[in-house]
This record gives sequence, structure tokens and C-alpha cells, in this order.
Amino acid sequence: MTDFSKTKAMFHLPEGVIYLDGNSLGPMPKAASARVARTIEAEWGEMLITGWNKAGWMEQPTKIGNRIARLIGAEPGTVVMGDTLSIKVYQALASALEMNPTRRVILSDTGNFPSDLYMADGLVRTLGHGYSLKTVAPEEVEAAIDETLAVTMITEVDYRTGRKHDMKALTAKAHAVGAIAVWDLAHSAGAVPVDLAGCNVDFAVGCTYKYLNSGPGGPAFIYVAPRHAETARPALSGWLGHEAPFAFDLAYRPGRGIERMRVGTPPVLQLAALEASMDIWDMAEMADVRAKSIALTDLFIALIERSCPSLTLASPRDGNGRGSQISFRHAEGYAIMQALIAHGVIGDFRAPDILRFGFTPLYIDEGDVRAAAAIIAEVMGKALWDRPEYKVRARVT
Ligand SMILES: *Cc1c(COP(=O)(O)O)cnc(C)c1O
Repeated sequence: MTDFSKTKAMFHLPEGVIYLDGNSLGPMPKAASARVARTIEAEWGEMLITGWNKAGWMEQPTKIGNRIARLIGAEPGTVVMGDTLSIKVYQALASALEMNPTRRVILSDTGNFPSDLYMADGLVRTLGHGYSLKTVAPEEVEAAIDETLAVTMITEVDYRTGRKHDMKALTAKAHAVGAIAVWDLAHSAGAVPVDLAGCNVDFAVGCTYKYLNSGPGGPAFIYVAPRHAETARPALSGWLGHEAPFAFDLAYRPGRGIERMRVGTPPVLQLAALEASMDIWDMAEMADVRAKSIALTDLFIALIERSCPSLTLASPRDGNGRGSQISFRHAEGYAIMQALIAHGVIGDFRAPDILRFGFTPLYIDEGDVRAAAAIIAEVMGKALWDRPEYKVRARVT
């Protein structure tokens, strides 16, 4: 059993704040500052360039990839860290399209995060020759999977509503029609149990600054199924994905297995911060995280619906059908969220009308949910949000 009081004590949670936005940016593990300081002072400072060998910087992307693999049901040696999620989406898509050369269509849905759609759009423009991106409503994805598709590019958990796709069923259908399945785990990794191997997924990508708490700008990860590891062309053929980077060959030869999905120099300082978080994740079982997440989110829905009739639930009511966030709709959602933040409950707002609250059992417990719900009830009941200063939009919402 995961000891959640122990994991909670390992995070720095500022006084007077209930943090319900770990789905967007995880909080700082207490050990992160010392871990990063050690990398800066004892490694970068003292070892200088020898740190690449002596401190193991070069192995970090696969070492940490293996620790994340446990959380997403990936086989050892199939996950590597690097770049940002948008870049990894592009890389996975480009590799997948190349593996299915007689087909030209990518299928995604209109609930997907815009960056994934933008990256796909950019890729099909570069490829030309009839390549295209097709998007359908999330509920229509299954019916839209047919033998015209080269690749399905689906984000498992919807960033706005938290609605969760059936990874196993959609992957099986994609394979049945001869398409390659690419999954985005941005709101899944560390939020819900994922079984990439069991679902027979071809490629998956995700980020670490959300539920995995690597800090702002933390690197992404990419998964390639073992059956494709030695054949998938990495598409972004950088020197660190080369078979022998320090041979400095003029010709590109992809590296062995997942190593080929590396592109350039890894973000050593960010990976050090991520290591501090993975030490906490090593103490957690995803099944326990999921059970507690469903209990906390069910409780939150019940408390808010009882006290705030003007907020409309935008997330699936059935815990099994959603990720680890709860969203409510309100036309004044932006101002309400600003007021909540001013009153010590941090969530976020997604246009046009979504108030989003993330529930992260590693450091949020039932007491936090009850306290947050009481503050939300007060802000709504007394219309404390109805002030001009809460209606001024900031750059990041
Ligand atoms: C958060 C998120 C992103 C962000 O991509 P970055 O390149 O890391 O900024 C992309 N896709 C999805 C589905 C996300 O939820």
C-alpha cells in the first residue's frame, strides 16, 4: 500500500494554499532544490565537461525513462526522455507515418490539445503529397477508425473535461484496420494506470511537468513498442540518436532501440529535478493512486454540486471514464478562478468557460478537498468573484 501521508510530506506545499493544479504544473519535491544544487555545484561546478561520463549525465534520459516506464506499463528499455511534448508528438507521428507508407491520413479528435493538432498540421504540410489530418468529435473516434487511416493520434485524457478514451479498444480497432496507434499521455502519466504493453500501443509520448512534477520546462518522454524499436526511423535524426555519436560520421545511422529517439543534448538540470520526483513516485503504486484519485474526485463533485448550483459538471460522472481532474463550467469561469486563487485555492481556467481542478493523491488528501470545497462554496455563495480585478486576463490562464 502506498503511504500517502509520507509522499505528501515530501513535497513543498506553500502555506495557505490548496493546490489543485498539479495536472498543469506539479509542485516542487522538497529534495529537488538540493538535488539540482548538487548537479550544479558538485557536478557541473567541479567536474565540468567530465560530468558527462563521471556523473552519468549521458545515461540520464534512458535511466529516468525506465523509472517512468513502470508507471505507464511500458517494457524496460522502451522509454527515453528529451525535448518537449510538442516535439515528441511530431517525432512519433512522423515515424509512424513512415511505417505505413501507402496511407496518408492521421485521425485525431477535436478534444485534443491544440499543440498536438498544430504539430500534425505542420507535419502534413511539410510532407505534402496528399497527407492530411482528420479530426472528429471525441465520441466519434471509434466509428471514424477505418482502412483509410495511416495513424491514429489520440490523447487519452481530455485536458479540458478529463474524459478518458478507451486505449485498449481504440488501439485494437486501429490495428484491425491496419493503422498505427500513437497515444499522448500528457494527462495520463502519473494520473491513471496506463498499460502500453497490454494495449499493444505502437508509440506513446507524454510530459513530466504535470503529474510527474519535474518543474517548469521539464522534458518529455517517448515510448516505442519493442517490435518497432529497431525499425522505426526516428524522423528527427539528431546526433545523440546516432548509433555512435562520438564517431562523428557524416552519414546518419539510427542508434540501438529507444536510443534512436534521442535528438540533442539532454536537459541535465531538469532531469535532476525530475529524479527527485521519481524518488517519490518509486514509493507509489498506480493502483493506489487511482483508487484515491477516484475517491477524492467523487467527493469533490458531491460537495460542489451540493453547495454551488451555478457550476455545471463538465467531467464524466463515472470515475472510470475520466482522468484525475474535475472540470466545471461557468460563463464567468475566468473571474471565478482568479477569485479562488486569491482565496487560496489554485486551479486553472481553460477557455471558453472551464474551471479545472486537478487531484493528485501524492500530496492532496480528503482534508484538502473538503477545505477547498468550502472556499469555493463561499466564493460562489457570496459572489466574491464579481470584482473588476478578477476579470483582467493574464497571459497564462
Ligand atoms: C500539456 C500538453 C502539451 C504541451 O506540450 P509542450 O510541448 O510540453 O508545451 C501537449 N499536448 C498535450 C495533450 C498536453 O496536455
